[in-house]
Amino acid sequence: MHRRTSDGWIEVISGVMFSGKSEELIRRVRRAEIARRRVQLFKSRLDTRGGTAQIVSHDGSEIDAHAVSGSRELRELVHPETDVVAIDEVQFLDDGIVEVVQWLADRKVRVILAGTDMDFRGEPFGPIGRLLAVAEVVDKLHAICVQCGAPASRNQRLVDGEPAPAEAPVIEVGGHGMYEARCRDCHEVPPATRHQTELDIVSEADAWAARVQYW
Ligand code: ADP
Ligand code: ZN
Repeated sequence: MHRRTSDGWIEVISGVMFSGKSEELIRRVRRAEIARRRVQLFKSRLDTRGGTAQIVSHDGSEIDAHAVSGSRELRELVHPETDVVAIDEVQFLDDGIVEVVQWLADRKVRVILAGTDMDFRGEPFGPIGRLLAVAEVVDKLHAICVQCGAPASRNQRLVDGEPAPAEAPVIEVGGHGMYEARCRDCHEVPPATRHQTELDIVSEADAWAARVQYW
């Protein structure tokens, strides 16, 4: 990125799982540090992939980060002298993150966000749609479809080796499912077999209490 840090703005690295979002976030953060910018890193506490305080990519790169429970906590943790705020797995944060990153960018902070853009059903994930809309720069990355080798844009959720049906909760306590990167053609979401009930909808508070592991 060629830019002066005196200008605040928002950049989003989006795409399917395994597309290299965390790698790209880590690369941008390292370059900002080489430029001697003051950087703070955050991730959602829901992401337990790399322990509670690190951003870890699927290729093993890692970097220390602060795990936060929500947008309000994140806002309170940003130091006044910070030049760059980077957030991984931003799709797990509450909608308030949109106002927080706008507020930061208005105050000349460079905001770098990484997050999965769609849930396993192919629907926009959490606050990501609004973040993509307000960002100055958006990069949509692709993985490789594990079925056919084409560029992958969709998260395939499997439960016991079978495609998860549409009524499965988006974030599931216990981590029964697993995920694959797939292209549009190979992505499968069997239609709901029954009506969704309130019990299927896992609230963020419940997920916290159970220390959710989502994949
Ligand atoms: P993301 O943050 O988007 O989930 P990561 O940066 O953690 O992605 O991991 C990207 C790395 O995952 C790739 O460089 C590659 O080594 C690995 N990888 C595993 N499966 C795939 C796949 N199906 N397509 C592309 N990369 C994959
Ligand atoms: Zn495919």
